[in-house]
Amino acid sequence: MTGKLVIAGLGPGDDRLVTPEVTAALAAATDIVGYFPYVARVAPRAGLTLHPSDNRVELDRARAALDMAAAGRQVVVVSSGDPGVFAMASAVFEALEGRTDWQALDIRVLPGITAMLAAAAAAGAPLGHDFCCINLSDNLKPWAVIETRLRHAAKADLAMAFYNPRSASRPEGFARALDTLRQECGPDRLITFARAVSTPEERLLTVTLGEATPDMADMRTVVIVGNSATRRVGRWVYSPRSVVG
Ligand code: SAH
Repeated sequence: MTGKLVIAGLGPGDDRLVTPEVTAALAAATDIVGYFPYVARVAPRAGLTLHPSDNRVELDRARAALDMAAAGRQVVVVSSGDPGVFAMASAVFEALEGRTDWQALDIRVLPGITAMLAAAAAAGAPLGHDFCCINLSDNLKPWAVIETRLRHAAKADLAMAFYNPRSASRPEGFARALDTLRQECGPDRLITFARAVSTPEERLLTVTLGEATPDMADMRTVVIVGNSATRRVGRWVYSPRSVVG
């Protein structure tokens, strides 16, 4: 049998937010590869081998998956949310560099609902105008790069979504990010903390930057900062479609 590698996004948590395309790929798989909490979301069955691994071995995990596909297996690499957003798709393509044998394989990326979109939907429409998305973890880039991007995004009056807001290796980073944002955006800007969206532990909190504290975020939280026009209506938060220039 010809091998195949699928890189699939499992969505933010709720099984109903897994796309039918991803469900079909999981049903056809012989092997599931990924970070162990994501692999745990795939039900075991006869003929399916689960290969859970730790978080910091993305490139090794990608190579192992490619090796199995090259050997004829039907491999699905799983990520949470979307596999192209701070997740495994980039690691797989990085592993393809210089490997023309692997480049000839049948490889597909199947999109998923990324955390910021599930969070924005739960909150209202805070990403309804122009926005950007920044990974606040400094595992793979220096803090100076994060800070420069934060300042530029704020100066451009973009709404912002932050993934990995509190890096385990440097928990003080998020406090610095909040200080930077208060300098650039002022204390009245709205900030939404969306934790474990679409799971039974979901929790949403919207405050102003002046009220925000670092402990409002953890690694299961995606944080959304509005633009200068983002406001509340009833219990929702939204960014209007137009901005006065
Ligand atoms: N590929 C994933 C992101 C992986 S990075 C995606 O597209 O969603 C991991 C970060 O995603 C977490 O630190 C958190 O910021 C965010 N995240 C993932 N699932 C989440 C959820 N259900 N609720 C809130 N944030 C989530």
